[in-house]
Amino acid sequence: MSPVLSLRGTTKRFGDHTALDAVDLDVAEGEVVVVIGPSGSGKSTLVRCVHQLESVDGGGMYLDGELLGYSEHRGALRPLTPRGTAAQRRRVGMVFQQFNLFPHFSALRNVSEAPRRVHGRTAGEAEREATALLDRVGLGDRLHHYPRQLSGGQQQRVAIARALATRPRILLFDEPTSALDPELVEEVLGVLRGLARDGLTMVVVTHEMAFAREVADRVVFMEAGRIVETGPPAQIFGSPRSERLHSFLSRHT
Ligand code: ADP
Ligand code: MG
Repeated sequence: MSPVLSLRGTTKRFGDHTALDAVDLDVAEGEVVVVIGPSGSGKSTLVRCVHQLESVDGGGMYLDGELLGYSEHRGALRPLTPRGTAAQRRRVGMVFQQFNLFPHFSALRNVSEAPRRVHGRTAGEAEREATALLDRVGLGDRLHHYPRQLSGGQQQRVAIARALATRPRILLFDEPTSALDPELVEEVLGVLRGLARDGLTMVVVTHEMAFAREVADRVVFMEAGRIVETGPPAQIFGSPRSERLHSFLSRHT
């Protein structure tokens, strides 16, 4: 089976700093890949490039075999129009550290807005689906609350429901619990565990090593824009091969 997501030589520079240095990565259907690594190693840049929030400077990224940022027409590749880019981006869901909810929309409207506006669902359909998604993240009783009336953990769960609402092929999480008070981390990790059990395809950047060990099918360790080591959690945490991973783990576990 071909991977849902493939990166081939993906390279990103900011000025003369190389944030991603020829990264190769495949994510299979239903796979949970957890990305770890020190601050500044390129983890956010990696997921931001996949979501086309950053342009790339080299290599290719493929979603279900389709080159991101381009369309094929009579055997020739053309850069996507803004509309084409938007449609491609909707096949990728992203959850940020800082929730990024619309402050003036209720939880229900935060989740139903995209399906209603861009997927042509009726208001009724979009609301029914949004209600079911909010229920799935444990917020069935908070539909009409506004973000400021919700805790950080609840806001992040709304953001997860919103990311699911466009039925993406893959979900990207960039440190989804790093902005939360410690007592709220577990309710968000619990939702991620449920999504993993349901077979969603996910890339999760996190510093929660216990979560990585428990939920990841594969762990990717990045440093200085490169994937230094990758493997199942038992190998990464139990018998790290590189000195750099060894020293990272001794600082973070
Ligand atoms: P991580 O998420 O692993 O902490 P990032 O992907 O945010 O790392 O950053 C990787 C490197 O790229 C860092 O050196 C960071 O300073 C740099 N970088 C990230 N975004 C920008 C930007 N918009 N402009 C300039 N440099 C950036
Ligand atoms: Mg980051």
